[in-house]
Amino acid sequence: MTTELQARLAELTPLQYAVTQQGQTERAFTGVYWDNHDEGTYRCVVCRTPLFDSGTKFESGSGWPSFYDVIESGRVATKEDDTLGMRRIEATCATCGAHLGHVFPDGPRPTGLRFCMNSASLEFEPRGGTEAGEDDAPEPA
Ligand SMILES: [Zn+2]
Repeated sequence: MTTELQARLAELTPLQYAVTQQGQTERAFTGVYWDNHDEGTYRCVVCRTPLFDSGTKFESGSGWPSFYDVIESGRVATKEDDTLGMRRIEATCATCGAHLGHVFPDGPRPTGLRFCMNSASLEFEPRGGTEAGEDDAPEPA
């Protein structure tokens, strides 16, 4: 792990840490993004890799921010998760391994998938304003 990532981990709130590093799930309807309708990009809260675009966000009624696709294939890794006596697909950040949420096969077209994410795993960047590099947000001076 890079020192940059370690620094980011140290900045996380207890909830962000519990979700991304320990696979916890925030309570439904308590996150900051489930009802966010602004246009923009959702990044990994740990490594800031862009993961989802607001254009693929939809109302799932679940109380968690839900997307039907990732911003670019390969950004989100999936694996089977058999905890809680249920077979689910866990979604993690492919870049840093942060736990994001789960993927369910009941989403809308065209993918039929529902990426059920924790707000605590995401950092929203509204569209517009100064368009800096896609991957490297400049540090404030
Ligand atoms: Zn990440």
